[in-house]
Amino acid sequence: MLYLDNSATTPLLPEVRDAMLPYLLEEFGNPSSKYYSKAMNANTAVEQARENVSILLGCKAEELTFTSGSTETNNMILKGTANYYQTKGKHIITSKAEHPSILDTCEFLESKGFHITYLDVDQYGRVSVEMLENALTDDTILVSLMWGNNELGSLNPIKEISALCKEKGILFHTDATQVVGKIDFSLEEYPGISFLSCSAHKFHGPKGTGVSFIRRDEYGVPIPVTPLLHGGGQESGIRSGTLAVHNIVGMGKAAELANDHLVKNISKLNRLEEKLTTLLNEKFGSNIVFNNDTGNKIPGILNVQFKGVNNEILVKKLAPIIAVSTGSACSSSKPSHVLSSIGLTLNEIRNTVRFSLSHLITEEDLMVFKSL
Ligand code: PMP
Repeated sequence: MLYLDNSATTPLLPEVRDAMLPYLLEEFGNPSSKYYSKAMNANTAVEQARENVSILLGCKAEELTFTSGSTETNNMILKGTANYYQTKGKHIITSKAEHPSILDTCEFLESKGFHITYLDVDQYGRVSVEMLENALTDDTILVSLMWGNNELGSLNPIKEISALCKEKGILFHTDATQVVGKIDFSLEEYPGISFLSCSAHKFHGPKGTGVSFIRRDEYGVPIPVTPLLHGGGQESGIRSGTLAVHNIVGMGKAAELANDHLVKNISKLNRLEEKLTTLLNEKFGSNIVFNNDTGNKIPGILNVQFKGVNNEILVKKLAPIIAVSTGSACSSSKPSHVLSSIGLTLNEIRNTVRFSLSHLITEEDLMVFKSL
C-alpha cells in the first residue's frame, strides 16, 4: 500500500525510533529532577533536542517551549496573548482557511468578548497583505496566519505580513505545521514573526510533540503570554508538566535529519509532485481539475477534483492500494472549510482528494497510478 497522506502524519524514521528508545527504557529519569545521572541524562537529551529544533527553525534554543503539538501551541498562543493583552485591545485577525485549532480557538475567544476578523482568501487560500493592512485597527493585538495551507499547500506571503506587523507593532503568530522540513527558512530572517507553531509528526518525528516559538528580545526577555498549563513551572513557567523526554528526543532527531537533508528532500518532493501530476493527467485527463496552485506552495501536496466522483467512495476504494484523504484529517467528516473558503461548490468539495507526498517515496512507487 502506497501511503500518500503525509500531510496528516508521516512515518517515524528508523533513526528517530533508535534515538527515542533509550528514553523509553533505561534513561527514564525526570529531566526536572536534580543531581543523579538519570535526571541529568534526560535533561541533557531534552536540551540537545531543543538545540536541534532551533537549528532547523533558525532561532535560539531558549525561544522554544516543548508542547504536545501544534493544536496545543495554537491554543497557547491565541489564548495566551488574548488573556495577557486584553486591556490593550480585543481584536484578533486570522483567515478563513486556517486549521480548526485556530478557528475553533478564535470562536471560543469570541464567546469571551474578543472581536475576530476572518480574512477572505484568494482562489488558492492565500491572504492579501493589502486586505490585512485594511483590517488592522488600534484595537488589534494579534494577527495569526498560517504559513502553508494543509489542504492546498499554498504559502502565504509571510515575509510581507510579518514585516507589516512589525512595522505596526502588532504581534504576529504563524502556524508553520505544514512547512517545517518542506521549505527552507530561518526565523532569523523574519524578525516580525513573534510566535510560531509546529508538530514533530509532520516531519517524521513522533506524534504528540511540538514546539511554541516565542521570540526573545536582545536582552533574552520573551514576549509575555499567559501560560496555558499552570503547575510545576517547567519550560520557563510557560508550559508546566513533566516533559515527554522520549518524544522530545524524537523531535530533536527528526529536526536534525530534516535540517541535514532539507535541500535534497525539497528537490525530491518537487520531482515527485511533477511525476504524480503527469501520471494523474495521463490517466484522468479532462476528468480531473487541480485545486492547488502550481507554484509558491509546499512541495508534495496536490488537491485534485475527480469530476462526478464521490471522494469518500473513491478514498475507500483506493484504500487497499493507496492511502489518501479527502482533506484535513482533523475535519474529514465535514465538507472542507478550506475548499469552501476558496469558492468551491459543495459538489466540487465532495469530488476532491488530497495527495500528500514524502521524500521517502520513489518515482517507481508512483507507477501504481498506471495500473489503477
Ligand atoms: N495546524 C495545521 C496547519 C495542521 O496541518 C495540523 C495537523 N493537521 C495542526 C495545526 C495540528 O497539529 P497536531 O494535530 O499535531 O496538534
